[in-house]
Amino acid sequence: MPSVAIIGAGPAGLTAAYELEKLGFSPTLLEADRQVGGLSRTVDYRGYRFDIGGHRFFSKIPLINDLWREILGDEFLVRPRLSRIYYRGRFFDYPLRAANAVAGLGPMETLRIGLSYLRAQIKPHAEEHNFEQWVSNRFGERLYRIFFKTYTEKVWGIPCTEISADWAAQRIKNLSLREAVRQALFGDRRDRDGGIVTTLIDEFHYPRLGPGQMWERCRDLLSMRGCKTIGDVRVNRVRHARRRVEAIYGATSEGQIVEMNADNFLSTMPLRELIESMDPAPPDIVIEAARSLRYRDYLTVVLIVARADVFPDNWIYIHAPEVKVGRVQNYKNWSPEMTPDPARTSLGFEYFLWENDAEWNWPDRRLIELAVSEGARIGLLDPREVEDGAVVRARKAYPIYDHGYRRSLAVIREYLDGFENLQTIGRNGLHRYNNQDHSMLTGVYAARNLAGERHDVWSVNTEMEYHEETDATKGDRLHPVRNLPPGG
Ligand SMILES: Cc1cc2nc3c(=O)[nH]c(=O)nc-3n(C[C@H](O)[C@H](O)[C@H](O)COP(=O)(O)OP(=O)(O)OC[C@H]3O[C@@H](n4cnc5c(N)ncnc54)[C@H](O)[C@@H]3O)c2cc1C
Repeated sequence: MPSVAIIGAGPAGLTAAYELEKLGFSPTLLEADRQVGGLSRTVDYRGYRFDIGGHRFFSKIPLINDLWREILGDEFLVRPRLSRIYYRGRFFDYPLRAANAVAGLGPMETLRIGLSYLRAQIKPHAEEHNFEQWVSNRFGERLYRIFFKTYTEKVWGIPCTEISADWAAQRIKNLSLREAVRQALFGDRRDRDGGIVTTLIDEFHYPRLGPGQMWERCRDLLSMRGCKTIGDVRVNRVRHARRRVEAIYGATSEGQIVEMNADNFLSTMPLRELIESMDPAPPDIVIEAARSLRYRDYLTVVLIVARADVFPDNWIYIHAPEVKVGRVQNYKNWSPEMTPDPARTSLGFEYFLWENDAEWNWPDRRLIELAVSEGARIGLLDPREVEDGAVVRARKAYPIYDHGYRRSLAVIREYLDGFENLQTIGRNGLHRYNNQDHSMLTGVYAARNLAGERHDVWSVNTEMEYHEETDATKGDRLHPVRNLPPGG
């Protein structure tokens, strides 16, 4: 069988390897980190386990649900979902519930929201190029400002007018205020096509020991079947000639150079880095396109609090503009086994930043102080209860959909399509705001392409996205959840 080298042992790379092994290949993975799972890994700090974000396992793709079960067996928990929005000193249920929203906002504000919605119906923005226009047209300007603008700008770090409407269309899809109110009032679970409405599902699946358990198990299964995952090797050079990649080179954290030759290559590394690693270098226009791709970086400050129950939610969205924190996770509410001591709680304060922001480079101690003071400010904790903290930084956590990204991707894609034996997959490998399921599906498709099938990995989670999903009757599915504000 031809040999295959895979760059990155996150969900996309590991799933590709898993599928390839089934197809008779024996792939090898090179991973920059010492741990597998990428953004879906679980970090362990003194026995306190936490995600980079909180990772719900939901998919409308039967193939992916089957894979999850195949890999993890009965290690999945079904968890109740509770999430709220903190805004103007109050907590709002999320998804929004009519009575709770009206009580929180007051009758006058509710009236204003209604009028603003009517205005948007009568005189919508003529164009829907950006996130603000797209959301205001469906929910009215007022609701957009309350429940979308501040949080979205925290996550993306750019004004909503600079975020492409593609993103709203991908994440919010067909939901409108009318539909949201109808669901909130009547609890109706049917959408226009008679399918299950995906917004209000209040349970999700989660591995007993966090999402990293899935990916560590996948690596172990691969290893038992003879497929190696080599950690601590960051690929930084991709040597090619005559439309074929010949070898990839990486370095360990101690500076040792690793070379790997293969017949075929799959890459999940961020497109910008991949293009900059190509040797010989691509034409200037391709390099410029790659350099124009932007990514939002992300860090979590985990606080260990000496209290058994801090709040009942899995996570809380912090829309309040007076604090920098964007979301707070309560990991024991994802799985009790995420915290070793039931008398204590570990909370994750999530900050969305740019790598060159001052806060990104603050020492951990200062970031922990920030989280403690913001946690106290919004009334979640008493600083005297905080016993310890840890910080985990994740670069390039969010591929950004600004107004130029599509053009840049088209240039990069045309260049990469010229290679006979290189496929890029996954979230940053396609610069696509994918959850695990779509990232994994690109891995499955790339593997099957090597076995002679023809799939377009670039179209996953775009126009074809619900082909598999509408065919949900074919497989038993885990619970789908659609998230109004950005989930991951
Ligand atoms: C805050 C947050 C919350 C999220 N919540 C959810 C959720 O609830 N549910 C869900 O399904 N998904 C969620 N996601 C999305 C999920 O994390 C991603 O879809 C998934 O991890 C993408 O998998 P991937 O393999 O494409 O990329 P990654 O997870 O980014 O993995 C890529 C791997 O490649 C490695 N790598 C990169 N460059 C190199 C290199 N040069 N050499 C070697 N190795 C390299 C990286 O170290 C990494 O391990 C969330 C994401 C974030 C950021």
